[in-house]
Amino acid sequence: MEAILVSACLRGVPCRFDGRHKGSSEVEAAVTGREVVSFCPEVAGGLVTPRRPAELVGGDGYDVLDGTARVVDDTGRDVTAEFVHGARRALAAARSAGCTEALLMPRSPSCGRGVVHDGSFTGELMPGDGVTAALLERNGIAVRPAPGV
Ligand code: SF4
Repeated sequence: MEAILVSACLRGVPCRFDGRHKGSSEVEAAVTGREVVSFCPEVAGGLVTPRRPAELVGGDGYDVLDGTARVVDDTGRDVTAEFVHGARRALAAARSAGCTEALLMPRSPSCGRGVVHDGSFTGELMPGDGVTAALLERNGIAVRPAPGV
């Protein structure tokens, strides 16, 4: 069976901005029998854990990749370069393992698919993809948001 790229935090790795993880039996059931590549683009991009929460500003992940939007944390620090670097490393990891699919953490500015936080740091959501989800989709890797998270 083909390999699948999975957000590392969904597999119990405490790499979220708050130092926690989002591992669950639902996610494990969804990848049973698959070769799993667990990957955290934000850590791979050079960010530390824990870290300040970050959101997409001025557009979604596609706009970030196109240079018309940014990723900033809640102190105003621009972390766009780290997010783009992490996305590129995620794509390289997926390609290297032959992944054609990814199961990623919902709403994240990196991993979100379909819906992400809107840049206001108020919990509000907007339609769109995170930076890594956008780069994977743009390169033919089908991204699904994880169930039950
Ligand atoms: Fe890392 Fe993605 Fe999980 Fe954020 S959502 S901690 S970037 S794997």
